[in-house]
Amino acid sequence: MAREWDVVVVGAGVAGLAAAKAAAEAGASVCVIDRMGPGGVLMNLPELHDVPENPNGMDHASALLDQAMAAGAELAIAEVTALTPGFNIDTDDEAHSAKAVVLAVGLGNGRLGLAGEDAWEGQGLSHCAACDGPLYGGARVVVAGHDRWAVQEALDLAATVEHVTLVTQGQDPAANAAELGTLANAAIWPGRVTALAGDNGLESVAVDGTVLPARAIFVQAGRVAPLGFVAAPGAPGLFLAGDCRDGATETVLAAEADGARAGAAAAAFARG
Ligand SMILES: Cc1cc2nc3c(=O)[nH]c(=O)nc-3n(C[C@H](O)[C@H](O)[C@H](O)COP(=O)(O)OP(=O)(O)OC[C@H]3O[C@@H](n4cnc5c(N)ncnc54)[C@H](O)[C@@H]3O)c2cc1C
Repeated sequence: MAREWDVVVVGAGVAGLAAAKAAAEAGASVCVIDRMGPGGVLMNLPELHDVPENPNGMDHASALLDQAMAAGAELAIAEVTALTPGFNIDTDDEAHSAKAVVLAVGLGNGRLGLAGEDAWEGQGLSHCAACDGPLYGGARVVVAGHDRWAVQEALDLAATVEHVTLVTQGQDPAANAAELGTLANAAIWPGRVTALAGDNGLESVAVDGTVLPARAIFVQAGRVAPLGFVAAPGAPGLFLAGDCRDGATETVLAAEADGARAGAAAAAFARG
């Protein structure tokens, strides 16, 4: 028997939590579902730029969660595996049904698009400089990506590693790369990662055939919205919020505002 809601929010990152809060405040019954627990990307960010007073990401996520729960939303930890018109929401735990749905699934982990890439996860391939960067103090590392947050990861790593190379995967780097260019232990490489190699964890990264010694690669490039479970695109009552929306600004405050708008619209739709 599916649990019935006015609004189901898929994803409890900043956008999903803001959506859940807004929908609940508008009087809707709301369940926000996340496969990892609340917080999304924020859980990996000790210092948030562009948010007043640069809060710790976990503290910010915790405050958003408290607000959503205080407004009356419920949190479920489960992976949503199918969303069909109606709306029926299947998960790896309970089934749910809802009059309106907000998709706030963010962008998945970055990918290089290399054969055998997954085998390097945890063997030198990471998606989180704050979590895994401390393992590589004094080593040479690579960051793959070109946007502002990839460059920020490289800047943060440069404070502790011997050397960091930002490989831009063929894209122009964001404006903050100028700061990276001033550091003695950083370089910007405009090519693409073509191979990862090593017998004892990662030892080198090939960029268009040139081999760079590297104990770790932090992959921010190639992030795409994980929307493969959605079999109801374009249905009335289905809303997108946060980074998973085409053209999203990809900042915490933008995702929060976007989520609040989507949550209010979903509650209004559910009321009919
Ligand atoms: C390295 C990095 C640093 C950044 N630093 C800053 C910064 O300093 N300041 C700033 O303003 N912005 C920063 N950003 C951007 C900001 O973090 C994001 O724009 C924002 O957090 C996106 O929130 P979101 O809710 O859209 O997505 P996410 O935070 O990605 O949340 C999506 C959630 O959906 C869940 N989910 C996905 N699929 C499913 C499914 N099928 N079932 C259930 N749950 C699912 C995920 O588990 C996740 O919790 C940074 C981004 C990155 C990558």
